[in-house]
Amino acid sequence: MQVISSAFEQLGLIPPLVATVAELGYSKPTPVQEQAIPLVLSGRDLMAGAQTGTGKTAAFALPILQRLAPFASPSASPARHPVRALVLTPTRELAVQVAESFRDYGAKLPLRSTVIYGGVDMNAQIDQLRKGVEVVVATPGRLLDHVQNKTVMFNQLSVLVLDEADRMLDMGFLPDIKRIIALLPRERQNLLFSATFPDEIRTLAKTLLRNPAEVQVAARNAAADLVTHVMHPVAREKKRELLSYLIQTRGLRQVLVFTGTRIGANRLAHQLRRDHIHADAIHGDKSQAEREAALADFKSGKTTVLVATDVASRGLDIEGLPQVINFDVPHSSEDYVHRIGRTGRAGMTGEAISLVSPQDHDAVAAIERLIKKRIERVLIPNFGPSGPSVATMMGDQPSHKDRERRRSPSSSGPKRQVDPIFSKPYEPAAPAATPIPAANQEAPQAKRKRPQLAALLGGLKKAS
Ligand code: AMP
Repeated sequence: MQVISSAFEQLGLIPPLVATVAELGYSKPTPVQEQAIPLVLSGRDLMAGAQTGTGKTAAFALPILQRLAPFASPSASPARHPVRALVLTPTRELAVQVAESFRDYGAKLPLRSTVIYGGVDMNAQIDQLRKGVEVVVATPGRLLDHVQNKTVMFNQLSVLVLDEADRMLDMGFLPDIKRIIALLPRERQNLLFSATFPDEIRTLAKTLLRNPAEVQVAARNAAADLVTHVMHPVAREKKRELLSYLIQTRGLRQVLVFTGTRIGANRLAHQLRRDHIHADAIHGDKSQAEREAALADFKSGKTTVLVATDVASRGLDIEGLPQVINFDVPHSSEDYVHRIGRTGRAGMTGEAISLVSPQDHDAVAAIERLIKKRIERVLIPNFGPSGPSVATMMGDQPSHKDRERRRSPSSSGPKRQVDPIFSKPYEPAAPAATPIPAANQEAPQAKRKRPQLAALLGGLKKAS
């Protein structure tokens, strides 16, 4: 416990916050926390490149709570609890999670926080605001409704946070954000968190931030460090079947699956249910109550598969998610990075599985460029696309050197599309076992803690 406390203490946090994080089981600060907490405590503006999963919420929530602590009042009077910090987020789910974090981290301080988002009745939110709250976490649109309604005032505000700023801009919130900023006192601390820094974010940062400190923990591709990436080339029409096969044969228990469209998400969840897999969908067409119920069922293990669209998945905090599957490969490679941010979180390893069809060739190339990594291709017998596209999809455009190394009698024949390395029997690393044919793999696989899918599916070590 002593060691646990000191790491956060060394960042300058006060005892109630140090004690709280110790109780939450945080053994040491994450890199973004290590860098950002002292800067935010010093009152500086900050531009931080960090995505969900890096511990970025605590990186701003803890020092904000500390800066507000001297103003904490046990009084019940609303006048003693003016809004002092505002956090803007792109989605309701993220807003809820950030507000929960403020509540958890501030458990030992008499500061109040609330969450404001659209799609639900305003009255409960009005009640909360009227009682007085120091920290408001909000999505921009609904916050402006409250501004119009005169249920929220910002004259005592001292800190503004834009969380997942890139996604807020993607979602068209820039005009709303500008309107909100115009309502705030000019003297304030500004913190901008973003996973990526496209030009619009840099422009916004220039107008918003004063002499900001910069922190970059998750370079755009760094989320990949804890994540194993794998791609399964598959005929487009067999994707759904392959997904069910993977879930069932690997005994996957908690999988977030991404589709490109809301309709696709609904349809896929429905089809999976027909395959007797507990699946639900989460996307923007669902009501807030439906989204919350879907997320709660998924977190509790009642649902095995949650099918999500990119927008709905933003900010979902599902700890220890072992697998993320891209049913549809995202068109924007930055979305790939966001998606896999749901796995391999806070020090845990995860697996990002993508089902790729010949049509996804360009998107895959862009993803590999962005994450600066070649993703391993694993062909699953009976599911691969037919024809010459397989070789292209396997990324099998070997250099001369590779060709020399891999030359085999069959590899140059016109009929043979797949490198024989993919059909070699399983060779376990430890001495044991005769080769296990594909159909009988379930039992040994179930015993293994982290199945080496690539190996199990045909002895693949490295494609090149
Ligand atoms: P975030 O990036 O803020 O969404 O945080 C991702 C997850 O990491 C959340 O579930 C946090 O509770 C958890 N977390 C944040 N900081 C730490 C830490 N220092 N040690 C362990 N877990 C943490």
